[in-house]
Amino acid sequence: MSIEVSFEFFPPATDVGAENLARCAQALAPLGPRFVSVTYGAGGTTQDRTHAAVGQLVADTDLVVAGHLTCVGATKEGVGEVIDRYLAVGVRHIVALRGDAPVGEDDGAVAGGYRDAAELVSGIRGHVERNGSTADVQISVGAYPEVHPRALSPQADLDNLKRKLDAGADRAITQFFFDTDVYLRFVEKARASGITAPIVPGIMPVTSFAGISRFAERCGTSIPVWMHELFADTDDDPGLQQLVSASLAAAQCRRLADEGIEEFHFYTMNRPELTLSTCRMLGLTPRTTGGSAADSFTSEEKLAS
Ligand SMILES: Cc1cc2nc3c(=O)[nH]c(=O)nc-3n(C[C@H](O)[C@H](O)[C@H](O)COP(=O)(O)OP(=O)(O)OC[C@H]3O[C@@H](n4cnc5c(N)ncnc54)[C@H](O)[C@@H]3O)c2cc1C
Repeated sequence: MSIEVSFEFFPPATDVGAENLARCAQALAPLGPRFVSVTYGAGGTTQDRTHAAVGQLVADTDLVVAGHLTCVGATKEGVGEVIDRYLAVGVRHIVALRGDAPVGEDDGAVAGGYRDAAELVSGIRGHVERNGSTADVQISVGAYPEVHPRALSPQADLDNLKRKLDAGADRAITQFFFDTDVYLRFVEKARASGITAPIVPGIMPVTSFAGISRFAERCGTSIPVWMHELFADTDDDPGLQQLVSASLAAAQCRRLADEGIEEFHFYTMNRPELTLSTCRMLGLTPRTTGGSAADSFTSEEKLAS
């Protein structure tokens, strides 16, 4: 079985954060990720920081770097400028998202902007083609195993995912989830709806249970009762929480691998430890040479050898 991984980072706000990101990327690079990506604040709130982080990763590492891009609150011209900046530094993979309007604003649509991620995907394809770029641009989009909180229905959300892929996206990366059955059923439904593109599971190692619980609520990700029990009284014991988190992420990924999933996207929160240990449990070990992700063994094979 050949396991492929990708790692998501957020753009740091300070010099100390930038040094931390550099250390994080350096720690994860030997695992040979297919790509690493940098998030982009909706409405362009992190635009300069995202470009700085992307530039830093491109300049300082051999990693394939993807840039996220949101269209909410932006004009088509503004989005075009971001695409051009990405292309100029050699980025050939864009994670195309609608993004969320600031709290209190309606849907963040602006005159002359893209209405949603499906329109953004066609916009990126059109922009690259119009500018005569020969770059082979990959596009990933978001998918929601537990249904996007603003979707009209699960089927409408799936239809929306299909529109994004039909518009020219190459793959979907899911919102993080902890109920693995929900993801597996979602993939089944997507296949039954005619979606054939890869639907890569987004894995969130729990760096802080309190923090992840708050974030999950906003994203529509459920925290199963057994997880509350698992993490009960660990908030004051970071060491114990880390051990529980590592076991949980490893068990989730192993289950997915047993179900035939070979590609994983990790929300690293710019902290490498839990992602590193989970990848190890998937059979990935650091390599000293470049190239694509190594053929991996099951953990049982590794333990037996
Ligand atoms: C892998 C991944 C990476 C992400 N990276 C970022 C990032 O870098 N920066 C960032 O800001 N966010 C990011 N997000 C979050 C994302 O922007 C939000 O989930 C957003 O609400 C939907 O974006 P989308 O591209 O999935 O939207 P779409 O595909 O356009 O819509 C998703 C669903 O939301 C429904 N919907 C209906 N009305 C609205 C509305 N007014 N607003 C929103 N959705 C509506 C749609 O009908 C559809 O069912 C990421 C999400 C994922 C899964």
